[in-house]
Amino acid sequence: MSPSPKIESKPELDFGNAWDYATAPEGTQVVIQEKYGLFINGEFCPPRSKQFMDTVNPASEVVLAKIAIANHADVDLAVAAAKAAFPKWKRLKASERAKYLFRIARRIQERGRELAVLETLDGGKPIKESRDVDIPEAAKHFFYHAGWADKLDYAFPGLTGTPLGVCAQIIPWNFPLLMAAWKIAPALACGNTVVLKPAETTSLTALRLAEIFQEVGLPPGVVNIITGPGNSGAALAAHKDVQKLAFTGSTRVGKELARNLAGSGKRLTLELGGKSPNIIFEDASIDQAVDGVVQGIYFNQGHVCCAGSRLFVQEGIMEEVLARLAVRIASLRVGDPMDKNTDLGAINSLGQLATIKRYLEVGTAEGAHMHQSTAKLPKRGYWCAPTWFTEVQPSHTIAREEIFGPVLSVMSFRTPEEAITRANNTPYGLAAGIWTDKGSKIFEIASRLQAGVVWCNSYNRFDAASPFGGYKQSGFGREGGRQGLWSYLELKA
Ligand code: NAP
Ligand code: MG
Repeated sequence: MSPSPKIESKPELDFGNAWDYATAPEGTQVVIQEKYGLFINGEFCPPRSKQFMDTVNPASEVVLAKIAIANHADVDLAVAAAKAAFPKWKRLKASERAKYLFRIARRIQERGRELAVLETLDGGKPIKESRDVDIPEAAKHFFYHAGWADKLDYAFPGLTGTPLGVCAQIIPWNFPLLMAAWKIAPALACGNTVVLKPAETTSLTALRLAEIFQEVGLPPGVVNIITGPGNSGAALAAHKDVQKLAFTGSTRVGKELARNLAGSGKRLTLELGGKSPNIIFEDASIDQAVDGVVQGIYFNQGHVCCAGSRLFVQEGIMEEVLARLAVRIASLRVGDPMDKNTDLGAINSLGQLATIKRYLEVGTAEGAHMHQSTAKLPKRGYWCAPTWFTEVQPSHTIAREEIFGPVLSVMSFRTPEEAITRANNTPYGLAAGIWTDKGSKIFEIASRLQAGVVWCNSYNRFDAASPFGGYKQSGFGREGGRQGLWSYLELKA
């Protein structure tokens, strides 16, 4: 196996063996190898398992590449590399660690277009989102944590922080490179070493990040990347030399991991699912709110843990909101994710599409009324038109369970008190949105919503300096901000 994928910048377009688009945005050329190995101890290497799986472009169903499947022996090697690298990395002068993070951030920016194209090809999200959100935000996380590396004494005044050791990090497919950055940057800033497992449908950008680690000369073993399905993740989480597990994914798997790790002494942080409320009051600017609702649920095809999937509208403006919502949704462009004008791309996998379709059936069967945009969907690939349900009861499955797709459940409320009760009536608590003209209402309601993030007259805004995480079954621990560092340090008084 060749050591690392070759990236060239030729004026003509060449998409390796796997991609046949006639045009690429901004003339970006991306070479995709036929096969990818694991990234262990600073090198790409074939898996001991000798097994590979396909990664597919969900917009065309074309196989992009073969990705290694890590087994127990591979996990052993990766964890051993991280363990061996830990003492030296931990002792490295903090300002030197910061330089590596800074260089990684710069390389992400420099290779930003290539990373955006790859993210969109592998995962199906619109190129404007990969280009303007995922990749720049990933760079920001490395810049932000480069700043913290030599200032950790100021993060927790009066306390000394020491790194934990080998951190296992398992991430989902909805923001592949961004989730890798959320995990790796704080771990390294605090002096830990890492074994990362990306989701099986979206490993390509994490593997490209591994190339960046080689380019900036990150010491071998400081970050290792193993690919494969859930079993590979389970083996990694269970490894005896792992000191900490940071998991982002479904509540079901999160609970299973929490049970498995109980009593092991390993530190655990969980970023899990959500069913976030977006609440519009009668005094809100309705156009602004409708725009925020659309952004809140249809961004990244609704594959967003904090998606505003339950819309609560105050009774007096329900009719007007529904009318404007229908017009706004009708204008959304669904289709080719590589087209810069596309608003909704492809559903990430056939499995996820089947899950979404099941919820659409259940929603109708339980008595809610389904509406869908009439946007023409491509023939090949995995697609779901932007959908919204009216006549939804709080007891309906579509009002209670996370769908993780472009599906909105609309409900009403009469009083602020009722809005709060209904919004909090969920096992989740990741995020919430409030739309109102009254500042006092914002403070009162935000203080009573059980959610890790509350957006006011906006939605889905992210900031590396702001901690993110959930209440209740949305998980525990925070990522980002000063509070996120705590997950990667042992604090001594
Ligand atoms: P998932 O099925 O739980 O998978 C997440 C990751 O865990 C993947 O890498 C997966 O590998 C791996 N995995 C699966 N089973 C495992 C096991 N038994 N032991 C260890 N690892 C295992 O979730 P998903 O469908 O990929 O992602 C969607 C979920 O993530 C949604 O619920 C969403 O709300 C949540 N999410 C939360 C946040 C947050 O910050 N709170 C952010 C993004 C997403 P495979 O890919 O091979 O299955
Ligand atoms: Mg894929």
